[in-house]
Amino acid sequence: MGSGDAVGPTPVQFVVMDSASDELFMRIALESAALAATHDDVPVGCALVEGDVVIAVGENRREVDEDPTSHAELVALRAAAAARPGWRLDGVTAYVTLEPCVMCAGALLNARVGRVVIGAMDEKAGAVGSRYNLLCDPRLLHEAVVTYDVLACESTELLRSFFLERREP
Ligand SMILES: [Zn+2]
Repeated sequence: MGSGDAVGPTPVQFVVMDSASDELFMRIALESAALAATHDDVPVGCALVEGDVVIAVGENRREVDEDPTSHAELVALRAAAAARPGWRLDGVTAYVTLEPCVMCAGALLNARVGRVVIGAMDEKAGAVGSRYNLLCDPRLLHEAVVTYDVLACESTELLRSFFLERREP
């Protein structure tokens, strides 16, 4: 018996995860996050990737759009859906600099995104492991593979400096 033979009845889902690519695409999400800060929005960014192609990016635009739903993930999901036929984004990986909130985790589920890669965790409002775990809940209609802690320090630093600058007179 080869060491790679599957044992037992548990189905195994194989997902290609390449940490170098993950960092590359997370850097694109971080660029979007930095863009958010230029219009006084909390720096959170998202990149949607299919294969090795970035199909959409989004940055948090809540303040500039005056829209409570203009989180980075929703901005990117809307752009991706507008750019292609249909609304399903199966096979797409979402790179998000900060753990998605309840609204965004719900949107990622509804878009059928296959995988979500997260930078920093959001202990206060995160819905992918911190407060809730909506992407890995068998009661819901879809589950996504989640990878944590990709360039988390860079994401945290962006957020930290954003709030630090705003505290200074
Ligand atoms: Zn959100």
